[in-house]
Amino acid sequence: MPSLKSLFGAGHQSNPTASGAAAADSPPLDPILISTRNIDKSYPVGNGQVFVLRRVTIDVKAGEFVSIMGPSGAGKSTLLSVIGMLDSAWTGEFWFVGHPVHTYSVKERVALNKQYIGFVFQQYHLIDDLTVAENLDIPLSYRNVKKSEREAMVADTLDRFNIVGKKDLYPRQLSGGQQQLVAVARAVIASPKLILADEPTGNLHSSQGAEIMELFTKLNQQGTTIIQVTHSETNAGYGNRIINLKDGWIV
Ligand code: ADP
Repeated sequence: MPSLKSLFGAGHQSNPTASGAAAADSPPLDPILISTRNIDKSYPVGNGQVFVLRRVTIDVKAGEFVSIMGPSGAGKSTLLSVIGMLDSAWTGEFWFVGHPVHTYSVKERVALNKQYIGFVFQQYHLIDDLTVAENLDIPLSYRNVKKSEREAMVADTLDRFNIVGKKDLYPRQLSGGQQQLVAVARAVIASPKLILADEPTGNLHSSQGAEIMELFTKLNQQGTTIIQVTHSETNAGYGNRIINLKDGWIV
């Protein structure tokens, strides 16, 4: 697999938020972006139920880079799905950029997701019958971006991730690592306010994994809030805070 050549190169400058120092009129980075209160999630098992999340109460400020860690089965992916508004079957309260998500319909939650969030799934979740370039265009299609501008952003992102040669291929024609790169590219292409990433480097070479973490660090320095699930102490070291989960509880 080729290495990533220019994640931080000239191509990045086409992103209006990527100019290095924060613009003078940037909002302050510390308002609360995410507040959860006593989030519970359970599945029915036999006559009873098994809890996957227990009274999960967290606050994440805008501009943080948080790592969720804990043993397999602890509820990490589930918590990320709740925060990403991909899972509505829970109880408790969840405030997102001031929106009371717990009172929102599924449709309203999906709209928030599309407006604010880039999600890197553990199993990539690329759309099988779209090419790499078409997959990258999807988050842009949710925004009010002109077609010509979208094409330029897709071309720029393909270049930054060194996958120009893959643009007309379908996900099934790519290795797992290549699909993961496309999934990360898709999550960041529209400059979302929040990036949620579930083991984003699990299938990458360590050098490519480090480059993705460097990219996240750079985006975070420019104001993007990042929450990642990781088993890797090295990856967690890129963030500013760790949330530990065990058996659905924050520990
Ligand atoms: P982690 O990401 O920490 O490995 P997950 O959030 O994927 O943990 O899963 C937490 C727990 O929820 C696991 O014990 C898993 O078996 C359970 N779980 C997930 N989906 C279901 C389901 N559909 N029915 C019952 N249990 C489930």
